[in-house]
Amino acid sequence: MPRLVSHPDEVRIISRRFGKGATDIDKYIELDGYKAVKLAIEKGADWIINEMKVSGLRGRGGAGFPTGLKWSFVPKQSDRPKYVLVNGDESEPATCKDHLIFLHDPHAMIEGTMIAGLAIGSKLGFIYLRGEYRYLLKIMEKAVADAYAKGFLGKDIFGSGIDFDIITQTGAGAYEVGEESALMESLEGKRGVPRIKPPFPAVVGLYGGPTVINNAETIASVPHIMLMGGEAYAKAGSERNGGTRLFGISGHVNNPGVYELPMGYNLKKAIYEVGGGVRGGRNLKAVVPGGSSTPVMLPEEIDVGMDFDQLGKAGSMLGSAGIVVIDDQTCMVEFALRTIAFYQHESCGWCIPCREGTDWLKKTITRVHAGGGVDKDLDNIRYLAENMLGRTFCPLGDAAAMPTIGFIKKFRHEFEDHLNGKPCPYAKHEEPAL
Ligand code: NAD
Repeated sequence: MPRLVSHPDEVRIISRRFGKGATDIDKYIELDGYKAVKLAIEKGADWIINEMKVSGLRGRGGAGFPTGLKWSFVPKQSDRPKYVLVNGDESEPATCKDHLIFLHDPHAMIEGTMIAGLAIGSKLGFIYLRGEYRYLLKIMEKAVADAYAKGFLGKDIFGSGIDFDIITQTGAGAYEVGEESALMESLEGKRGVPRIKPPFPAVVGLYGGPTVINNAETIASVPHIMLMGGEAYAKAGSERNGGTRLFGISGHVNNPGVYELPMGYNLKKAIYEVGGGVRGGRNLKAVVPGGSSTPVMLPEEIDVGMDFDQLGKAGSMLGSAGIVVIDDQTCMVEFALRTIAFYQHESCGWCIPCREGTDWLKKTITRVHAGGGVDKDLDNIRYLAENMLGRTFCPLGDAAAMPTIGFIKKFRHEFEDHLNGKPCPYAKHEEPAL
């Protein structure tokens, strides 16, 4: 479980109630809770969507799609019910930010869901937690029950004449259902495999109705945006990347944890100042900046702002903002193997390039790591990964291929060093075998 950490550079917007007992509804109300939804009712849908657009909030799940724009895609008139779906299936390795919101501020999730509902004209929201977060479901369910008991959810919310209900649900432990269309399949009681897009869920989503699906952190940011105003929120971040973000810093670092930093905060500073530098006084070998699917960066590449655009230009991605610090005693072939082993295990098997591609990548990297590889394996790894890109039903295939390409491009010499039949020349950490 991530520790509650703090650093003077943090700007606490989403995390301002963490550790303050806000799971209790009265405490939440005392800390400005449920004011934002009242304001949103008073101002109406167009105002909400406009504030969201002005805020520059971009999807915190990883793709960074502008939230206000996504909401504006939902048709005003629909002959099917519209839905709000909160994606709390946080599963990307190195990512444990949404977890903290569920743990410390579940009412923010309820309030954000209600405001999204008001914006699109929906009467029903679902909050979906990953299977492994089942213990957080109790917290979330209690928060929902308390909100009903106060009359905040259900019929005629805050005397507005508008009804809004929330249903909570957990997954069963599949990474794949974090993908939004697989999430809808799962929620509908089917096998969690992706749907073809378009149509996007904003138009044809859950049970065929227009559906806004947002990551949990995105939704929890909404009440704060309503209260502070879109413009002030935008100013907290960088150009075209409004606000703050919960950054996870993990790996070989002195002060691991989840920190709320402005969008655009420098990655090197995040590692050396916020994270306290590399553990044990060792040197930095590499950084994975945004969760396991984002391409690895070299120490000389990390003097860059952490937002969707700047990290993209630097050849990687912001993704789910899970920074992994890797020290000079790490075998990058083993790191690559661990990464691909995860994706191979989690591939839903629905489409061939992902199912077969991840499997062959794992097999080939396994034998290279074990010292039984041949020269051609290295080109094959790259060729295979490059041919998965953009050819799978959902981004899981890309998520497996992109880091693999990064590892083989930037650490080819380490792969080559494994081809001589000797045991791994790099691994010095006592790590459990795969
Ligand atoms: P995407 O870019 O396809 O879509 C992003 C969002 O925008 C989706 O909600 C999609 O419906 C919407 N959208 C895009 N174009 C649209 C259009 N024209 N009209 C209406 N809506 C539109 O990305 P994705 O497949 O949703 O997500 C991939 C990302 O997920 C990766 O970047 C990765 O970082 C992240 N990820 C996160 C986790 C986690 O645990 N947080 C796990 C795995 C992957």
